[in-house]
Amino acid sequence: MKAVVLGAGVIGVSTAYELAKEGFEVEVLERREGVGLETSFANGGQISANHCEPWAAPGVIEQALKWLGRKDAPLLFRLRLDPALWAWTLRFLSQSREEKFWANVAKILRLALYSRTALKQLRDDLNIEYDHLENGIMNIFRSPGAYEHALVRARAISELGFERKILDPKQCLEIEPALKGISDTLAGGTYSPDDETGDAYKFTTALYEKCKALGVSFRFGVNVFGLEHDQWKITSAITDQGEIKADVFVLSLGSYSKAAASGLGIPLPIYPTKGYSVTMPIVDMAAAPSVSITDDEYRIVISRMGNRLRTAGTAEFAGFNTDIDPARADMILQQALGVFPGAADSAQAEFWCALRPSTPDGAPIIGRGLQENLLINTGHGTLGWTMAVGSARIIARLAKGLAPEIDLNGLGWERFS
Ligand SMILES: Cc1cc2nc3c(=O)[nH]c(=O)nc-3n(C[C@H](O)[C@H](O)[C@H](O)COP(=O)(O)OP(=O)(O)OC[C@H]3O[C@@H](n4cnc5c(N)ncnc54)[C@H](O)[C@@H]3O)c2cc1C
Repeated sequence: MKAVVLGAGVIGVSTAYELAKEGFEVEVLERREGVGLETSFANGGQISANHCEPWAAPGVIEQALKWLGRKDAPLLFRLRLDPALWAWTLRFLSQSREEKFWANVAKILRLALYSRTALKQLRDDLNIEYDHLENGIMNIFRSPGAYEHALVRARAISELGFERKILDPKQCLEIEPALKGISDTLAGGTYSPDDETGDAYKFTTALYEKCKALGVSFRFGVNVFGLEHDQWKITSAITDQGEIKADVFVLSLGSYSKAAASGLGIPLPIYPTKGYSVTMPIVDMAAAPSVSITDDEYRIVISRMGNRLRTAGTAEFAGFNTDIDPARADMILQQALGVFPGAADSAQAEFWCALRPSTPDGAPIIGRGLQENLLINTGHGTLGWTMAVGSARIIARLAKGLAPEIDLNGLGWERFS
């Protein structure tokens, strides 16, 4: 059986690997010159079941209004005539109601936990290295109000089976002494010890080598325009290099999945959400964190990756534009240096931005399409690195006709129809 995987980001490459392990002959189609060069290239690095709360949360409208017009807003809507954005925003707002929010938290958590375990297994099996650290993730809060809110959330999430340790400022410093420079600004923190970090790009390239060893073929520089189909089946991928036939097709084109799936009769409300990262060499190891930090005040994450410090954040709704706005990139750089002064060399900072493939409810779209041989694995938004291995395993099992190992309820495209 031949499977064609569309897209070679962390999702596509993980899926190719799992399909090959299930015995498929696999071909991956990718427009770039290599794997992992778009959204999977320089993300925040967190493998974070902890980050299971979607943006569409109660209070998001009030929060967005406070930020409106502020250039340093972590969540920035650039008001523009874009019907896709307005349609997406309406769906997004409808997901922010209390009961929807908690249903979304539950399904995101289910997939993130499954995937985190699957990644650990894969790493043990393959012995691949990608600057990973198993030191957990700490969220820090500066205002007593934000900390109080976090404690309420932590208690509610513990009822879903996920324990966030609650920390006072002294405990924050015991776990991450490099926070000493901001100790007097800390109201407290929460900590998820089993979460991890690692370089998604290094992981994707390492897994690419393992894929090739299993016989997976990669075609780079090929543009996918869409999928040809009859009533029941996808028959071929239509590309600028002709039609490519297979028995099974997997859609994993990140933010570009929706365009490629047009005409297939399934709604894929995926909107590109621009985020930035800055990577710098660490110059003082003791001043840099070993635990990955999420700073609630600025909505940034800061992770150590080998001898580099990476900070990532901001969400900008501005279509498919991938220009780097120097002011926004510098903003997260200064915020990270404020948390860990002297840790990294900002003169050698590398700036990056990319488009998160975001769905209104914050969960990816995973499952079968309308045609029985179409499998969808996309829309992973803020958590694509966290969810990559688990999502890939689910798709490979579905392709093989096996039941997935977790409940897929609420993860398919049907929820948007
Ligand atoms: C600033 C930032 C920080 C983040 N931090 C984290 C984090 O800490 N933890 C976490 O879990 N996630 C994080 N993410 C999210 C994560 O990076 C994404 O969810 C993930 O990379 C999505 O992977 P993907 O394979 O779906 O998309 P991509 O990596 O974009 O892959 C899609 C591939 O499809 C190819 N493609 C697209 N269209 C076509 C076409 N028509 N023909 C051929 N090829 C095509 C592209 O070239 C690309 O290689 C972050 C994202 C950003 C932007």
